[in-house]
Amino acid sequence: MTTARTVPEWVGKHPDEAVPRRVKDRIFLRDGGRCQACTRRVGPGGEPYALDHKIALVNGGEHREGNLQLLCQNPCHAAKTATDVAIKSKTYDMRKKHIGADKPARPSRLSKEYRRAALARIQAEQAKREELT
Ligand SMILES: [Zn+2]
Repeated sequence: MTTARTVPEWVGKHPDEAVPRRVKDRIFLRDGGRCQACTRRVGPGGEPYALDHKIALVNGGEHREGNLQLLCQNPCHAAKTATDVAIKSKTYDMRKKHIGADKPARPSRLSKEYRRAALARIQAEQAKREELT
């Protein structure tokens, strides 16, 4: 009896690192050559496909084998990407709200008054100077 050799999971060293051919092949086999959303056959003789990050990198997902899956290019990967972007902007909005960065800048009521007062002071000084000359 043979024991299956466990291959260590591939982990990208940086988010831009190309997924090596052997890892792509492993993912293809693991996912049975099918889109993980609509189950259509992808690859040679099937639909064009993409290696998709299950949790998108922009949403904190990791660039590693376990976070990659087969998706057909259209419509599944296109739809997934749109969803990822929507999630991204949603969490971005929530984060902004959380840190209070989305609050409108305090209306410059005070500074407008201050500016008006400063302008009045300058004009008064100018008038005084003109009186003296
Ligand atoms: Zn699909």
